[in-house]
Amino acid sequence: MSEKYDLHCHSTASDGALSPTALVQRAHEHGVTSLALTDHDTVAGIAEAQTAAIETGIHLIPGIELSASWQNKCFHIVGLGIDPDYPPLREATLNLQIMRTERAEKIAAKLEKKRIPGALEAVKKAAGDGMITRSHFADFLLSQFHVSTQQEAFDRYLGAGKAAFVPTTWSDLELAVSWITGAGGVAVLAHPLRYKLTASWMKRLLAAFKEVGGLGIEVVTGRYNADEIKIVAAYATHFELAGSVGSDFHNPANPWVELGRIAPLPEHIKPVWELLS
Ligand code: AMP
Ligand code: MN
Ligand code: MN
Ligand code: MN
Repeated sequence: MSEKYDLHCHSTASDGALSPTALVQRAHEHGVTSLALTDHDTVAGIAEAQTAAIETGIHLIPGIELSASWQNKCFHIVGLGIDPDYPPLREATLNLQIMRTERAEKIAAKLEKKRIPGALEAVKKAAGDGMITRSHFADFLLSQFHVSTQQEAFDRYLGAGKAAFVPTTWSDLELAVSWITGAGGVAVLAHPLRYKLTASWMKRLLAAFKEVGGLGIEVVTGRYNADEIKIVAAYATHFELAGSVGSDFHNPANPWVELGRIAPLPEHIKPVWELLS
């Protein structure tokens, strides 16, 4: 049987719609043989996913998607093959949970000023024990008919510079990468084209990322077309980074993204899974 990797997805431990168990089962149904669970700033879903993976017969790679700041911009760093019990990483996730809760309070206060009450209670209820993200706010705005799509929620309220945007300083890029490498994992720059960087900024970012120990880049995501894959593959080659593939699946209701539904890694790119033990 041929291997199928999906190295980026979310469960209810952050802003995914499926429990870790349901996510693993769905991945299996879609032919995934190796799945990395990479929730935002948390490893809380990994134990359950691991149990489900053993029962289902697929290989689970423990992962995380850390929010990191570099040059006043936010980047997402996927950690693959991490030890979720590595104490500095555990401690970091606890701090990030506090940061996210405080940020949620500020976002809700801004929405309240726009005469949209009740957001904090709603997002806390939706997130449960998991990380509160802006996706939860987008879902709330949608459910209350303040917007008609998730995208509109970001365009009007939650996106950078919009009415309910709260600028956040995340962990420094170097620190975030050190938690991943310290936990025995491989640090991968997630969805590199989503940051809308110019080519010269992208080169500065990748040089800085490599300098602090980054080893991989997501060459294929659930949303990239052939041209985009070529662009990122060229960066991977130039910076000698291994290539990762991940759907960034969140929710079965999104018809554009599915677990395992990702283009293959271009053949000349070194696969990141060769770096995972
Ligand atoms: P946060 O980490 O709390 O800032 O939330 C970021 C999450 O919000 C991302 O992981 C996406 O799931 C979602 N998100 C960010 N921007 C958008 C957008 N423009 N449209 C839809 N979802 C978005
Ligand atoms: Mn997300
Ligand atoms: Mn991301
Ligand atoms: Mn993601």
